[in-house]
Amino acid sequence: MNTGSDKAAIGLFGGTFDPVHQGHLALAQHVLSQCHLDRVLFIPAPRPPHKGVLQTTFEERVAMLELALAEAGAGTHMQCSRIEADLPAPSYTVQTVEALLQRGTCCTYFFIIGGDSLIDLPSWHRIKDLLKRINLIVVQRDHLAVDRVGQMLRSLDASFTYERARGLWCNQQGRTVEYIDDIELPVSSSQVRAALARGERPAMLAPAVFAYIRQHHLYGWKDT
Ligand code: ATP
Repeated sequence: MNTGSDKAAIGLFGGTFDPVHQGHLALAQHVLSQCHLDRVLFIPAPRPPHKGVLQTTFEERVAMLELALAEAGAGTHMQCSRIEADLPAPSYTVQTVEALLQRGTCCTYFFIIGGDSLIDLPSWHRIKDLLKRINLIVVQRDHLAVDRVGQMLRSLDASFTYERARGLWCNQQGRTVEYIDDIELPVSSSQVRAALARGERPAMLAPAVFAYIRQHHLYGWKDT
């Protein structure tokens, strides 16, 4: 991403990662290269507001993320952040973003969401404040038309206008929303958990993550 400054461009990728799978890693890699970011931070939520009781602890999900990132040779380009563990639960994105912004002004942040999450934006906690504070990168997942994305954004902040030359929306505060092509891999954490509970080894799981799941008997996995 050309931020027009010396600031590092950091993508923030929030999720439950229960467990992390190859779709998550591919999405982060895609955004890194497509948007020229310096780094993507995976930010697991200790207690996601929209998901019920999880089968794993925050520490187990962090451990799996770190194993997957190490195995992918992510280095400093993709890292796991524990920031939400220190913030009040449930984990609202706006709180996380405000906490990061308070830590300093060395970076420009881009919050990454899947296009499927776009239609849920109106229900996000303090969404209007969030859009004033951070740039968004929306990765197309369900072929939502560009016009529809514009309508959605303007219903939340009427100052968003589409800048054709840059191929993005920009609001009064100069925050941008970029809508990029998808790379969707047909996998979700729910599918991975369901396969493990059936005793099947899921295809889209990093070997190190699978080894961790076996070792800790997660998601109902039993060695036969
Ligand atoms: P679950 O099945 O439990 O709902 P999930 O696989 O969707 O989990 P989350 O941790 O809830 O994973 O997702 C975090 C983010 O990753 C979301 O923005 C989601 O859109 C994106 N994502 C998840 N799976 C994929 C995939 N296969 N390809 C691209 N993006 C994905």
